[in-house]
Amino acid sequence: MLDLSKRARAISPSPTLSIDSKTKALVANGVDVINLSVGEPDFSTPDQASLAAIAAITAHFTKYTAVNGILELRQAIAQKLLEENQLHYSANEIIVSTGAKQSLYNIFMTILNPLDEVLLPTPYWVSYPEQIKLCDGIPVPLVTDESSSFKITPRQLEHAITPKTKAILLNSPSNPTGAVYTKEEIAALAEVLAKYSIYVISDEIYEQLTYDVPHVSIAQIEAMRDRTFVVNGFSKTFAMTGWRVGYVAAPEHLIRAMSSLQSHTTANPSSISQKAALGALGTFNPQTINEYRKRRDYIVASLNALDGMECVKPEGAFYIFPKAKGLIGRTLTLANGEKHTIETVDQLCEFLLVEAHVSVVSGSGFGAPDNFRISYATSLANLEQAVARMEIFFSHLD
Ligand code: PMP
Ligand code: GLU
Repeated sequence: MLDLSKRARAISPSPTLSIDSKTKALVANGVDVINLSVGEPDFSTPDQASLAAIAAITAHFTKYTAVNGILELRQAIAQKLLEENQLHYSANEIIVSTGAKQSLYNIFMTILNPLDEVLLPTPYWVSYPEQIKLCDGIPVPLVTDESSSFKITPRQLEHAITPKTKAILLNSPSNPTGAVYTKEEIAALAEVLAKYSIYVISDEIYEQLTYDVPHVSIAQIEAMRDRTFVVNGFSKTFAMTGWRVGYVAAPEHLIRAMSSLQSHTTANPSSISQKAALGALGTFNPQTINEYRKRRDYIVASLNALDGMECVKPEGAFYIFPKAKGLIGRTLTLANGEKHTIETVDQLCEFLLVEAHVSVVSGSGFGAPDNFRISYATSLANLEQAVARMEIFFSHLD
């Protein structure tokens, strides 16, 4: 058989999307699984977005658009960045792509040369290291854990910088930990970065979902603006995961380079989705945060009450990232009498899915193999049911 490229051989499928597909296949076969795996809001896409998309179709707005997105949408995004984030960008400093996932890939493709290092605070979202490696870069983990509330410190950052450091990736609020950097913490990191020539990739896709610590963009700091890529999208804020619209704001020469790249890969994002995105802007309902807060408070308190679990209360996004160390090494007895020792969190997650019918994602793909991720972007009733199932499952471990 003809072989695959080294690149293709080195890549494994996204664990978040794989477990979601596996869960959906079980559900389609009639298994009653509670899906806490994929990070996807359970709210509906706003009607304003859907109606704008329908209007686009009926008006035959179904042809190629400008590669970097229609001017109207880029202007509206610029306005949003100004009003909500106090960031000044012109429409020429914005590129719209097929999801923030493509936005990030465009960035890595545009700035990385072979063996360039990208500082990547752990736990990280699963696609960052894979995308960096696909672009021949080297992800350099900056390890954090519960003891630092999953946040890097300025000193840690300074120690990690080498002549090979090309960029740092910041993701606040974070997937998978929900950690949110305060204004002071962002300023302290910026102070270190200002001494070096390093790009900043600031993934702000969960910006609207913060509880008590307001979101701050590092690009608000004057010295950072010209080296920063602000990444955002419509998937999380507007429950538009399937429409595939993300964007980047950055200095014009960087946007132009990404646009050239995109012109040869996907060209413009879907014309219909762009109109939907335009319809969505400004419709975020702040009540959503209260709903998520109730869920967060419930799931954190309930999990911490279970034997063997340790869970930090996150400040943002819709994930919790409990430590499952207390469950490792314990033995599970199946209904047929078979005994299994749980040796890794991967195995724990597999048993939770198959035996307890609760779908969560192991922390190994997030660079934190002692933890697992729960998405609480689902109803309280589902969360209650999931906790009840986990409690029974854990009580059967010896
Ligand atoms: N960044 C983070 C941190 C994410 O969790 C996701 C997952 N949706 C993305 C980017 C990509 O989002 P999308 O491609 O749906 O815009
Ligand atoms: N970002 C979401 C998650 O982490 C969606 C799936 C994906 O693209 O990884 O679950």
